[in-house]
Amino acid sequence: MKPAPFAYHRPATVEAALHLLAEHAGEAKPLAGGQSLIPTMNFRLSQPKVLIDLGDLDELRGIQAGRHGLHIGAMTTHAAVEASPVVADLAPLLAETMPFIAHPQIRNRGTIGGSLAHADPAAELPAVMLVLRAQFGLLSSRGHRKVKAADFYTGLFTTALEPQELLATIEIPKPEKRTGYAFAEIARRHGDYALVGVAGAVTLDRKGLCDGVRLALLSVGDGPVVCTGASQLMAGRAPTDDLIREAAEAVAAKDIDPPSDIHASAAYRRQLTRVLVARVIEQAAARAGGAAK
Ligand code: FAD
Repeated sequence: MKPAPFAYHRPATVEAALHLLAEHAGEAKPLAGGQSLIPTMNFRLSQPKVLIDLGDLDELRGIQAGRHGLHIGAMTTHAAVEASPVVADLAPLLAETMPFIAHPQIRNRGTIGGSLAHADPAAELPAVMLVLRAQFGLLSSRGHRKVKAADFYTGLFTTALEPQELLATIEIPKPEKRTGYAFAEIARRHGDYALVGVAGAVTLDRKGLCDGVRLALLSVGDGPVVCTGASQLMAGRAPTDDLIREAAEAVAAKDIDPPSDIHASAAYRRQLTRVLVARVIEQAAARAGGAAK
């Protein structure tokens, strides 16, 4: 398959890229790693008239530890995030999740910003950013604004990004005290998109009782799905095996409305959710306890 005709620009500065985006708003698409955009163009599911290649914009690349947490440039590749000791230290959930994304060849080209902007409901990173309470820096020729991950995802492959805006930075706060994080997913083959995935964080108080359970799921809705049932059920209680099973059951039964498709039935996705939520809460709670010692 060949894409529909398009004009191609490779600006040398962010300013020039924003100018091009404003000039062609609604007709242009930024090109990051191309791992999602080029296949959809080749299938003619996407037919932008103008491609703005962000490949030369080094200002949008890099990982820095700041006073409040991590700053990651949108054009940083998945592979660079995966290999970063700073990410492992300041965002262990992100580091743990990276190897689940596609295959090494795709992680070498695909970018963190491309994945977050693409908003595939089966992508791992949007769910992880929700659990980490990340914030996104958006740029346009009119200025900049910050949007919380919780406000960024608005539906199937849609986000709060305006047509003339670029996702520029991802800010992740430092790990919280007495909090453990975990990620789990099931895919038919390692590297395939997950049938269901779960990112989670459990905070324990000084007595070891639950002080918060944050869960976000992928592949069970139109976008990343935040689940609150487990948190309500577990608040102020010890994370015993029975309570974790009960919480996972509540999430699977009430918090999600998964689709049936050629990859899995809704009933199977609910069953995977039961199993994975329990696994993630158990692991995150154990890690939270460890961190408290
Ligand atoms: P691109 O493909 O270049 O762009 C994607 C979209 O985001 C486009 O609409 C583009 O205009 C927009 N965009 C890109 N950057 C910006 C920006 N800075 N600001 C505003 N808009 C922007 N992903 C997963 O999460 N999990 C998987 O298991 C997985 N498996 C895959 C398997 C295969 C075989 C392939 C080909 C891809 C897979 N992917 C998977 C997708 C991969 O992670 C991509 O890297 C990612 O979805 C898009 O990143 P990209 O940098 O390639 O973006």
